Amino acid sequence: MVVSGAGIQRADVLTEGEKILAVGENLKAEDAESINVSGKYLFPGFIDAHTHMDLEVSGTVTADGFDSGTKAEISGGTTCIIDFATQNRGESLEYALERWHKKAEGKASCDYAFHLALSDWNERVSQELEQVVEGGICSFKLYTTYEGMVVDDQTIYEILTRLKELKGIAGIHCENKGIIDARLKELMKSKGNRREVSDYPATRPSLAEAEAVSRILKIAACVDTPVIIVHLSSKEGCEEVKHAREKGNEVFVETCPQYLLLDESRYKLPGGEGRMYMIAPPLRGKKDQETLWKALAQGEIQTIATDHCSFTRQQKEFGEDDFAKTPCGMPGAEERPALMYHYGVMQILWCGIQTGNGC
Ligand SMILES: [Zn+2]
Repeated sequence: MVVSGAGIQRADVLTEGEKILAVGENLKAEDAESINVSGKYLFPGFIDAHTHMDLEVSGTVTADGFDSGTKAEISGGTTCIIDFATQNRGESLEYALERWHKKAEGKASCDYAFHLALSDWNERVSQELEQVVEGGICSFKLYTTYEGMVVDDQTIYEILTRLKELKGIAGIHCENKGIIDARLKELMKSKGNRREVSDYPATRPSLAEAEAVSRILKIAACVDTPVIIVHLSSKEGCEEVKHAREKGNEVFVETCPQYLLLDESRYKLPGGEGRMYMIAPPLRGKKDQETLWKALAQGEIQTIATDHCSFTRQQKEFGEDDFAKTPCGMPGAEERPALMYHYGVMQILWCGIQTGNGC
């Protein structure tokens, strides 16, 4: 059963090397090796458009590099990832990209491409962008939070303007840094420590995401260019996207299985188990999940990516005395396609059969 954009059809698939030569019934090909996959669905390889392999963050490096990370992707049916090459402050774009090529070269089990995260902005970087786009990298990432990565509004405006000239696009991590920093400080003042992971989600509230989404979309409207909102997690954030679209903004939205399937009750798990679920933005509530599923069903969300950013239990324990020191991120490379098929297709079909009207 071949699954494609055109639907599901029972067919043979003839391939040579990495190329599909034909799809059709009773294909004849002399000397071709035949693999019988009766009873299975045959999908095109999936693309994971948001991964962090071999990324230095919070004084450590993600547990998965391009070796184990892409093996996990392949095991789940993903055949191409787009990882975030990252420019640290002071680095040229060329240097940053070279580093990422070295990290991946000879190690990846699947195809890979890069987005480029920008943290430093000046005339030299602006000039360099042209070669980067010519070299085939045309999607970039900007952060509205994280010391070391955050860019201010003027920089965002200037980068979006330059990308518009070059026909590139930016994906943006949307959270208001001021609100987060103030909440972290408040917590320290009121409790004297930040040990309880259950306090974590309130330090990064939905409104901090919504504020940054709204601001970014208004800056993008001033520049008159489309943007991508990455890992959207909240109802409030969805509403900002809706408003902007009603006004004519072109916005692409990504979310991740963890925001659709897990909720903030995980942060209340005992014995520091909640730290395993520390991601940014944090897991949200049931109403946020409902909004995301609905937005997905209505075509308001275009991409489901993993934001695969894995750490071992030991690494997560860096935040034992202060949860703010926990490296944020979760894996998902292997599980994404199965999870989305199970919860996004089968469960909804089953639910439709049960209620008789679909849901
Ligand atoms: Zn990410």
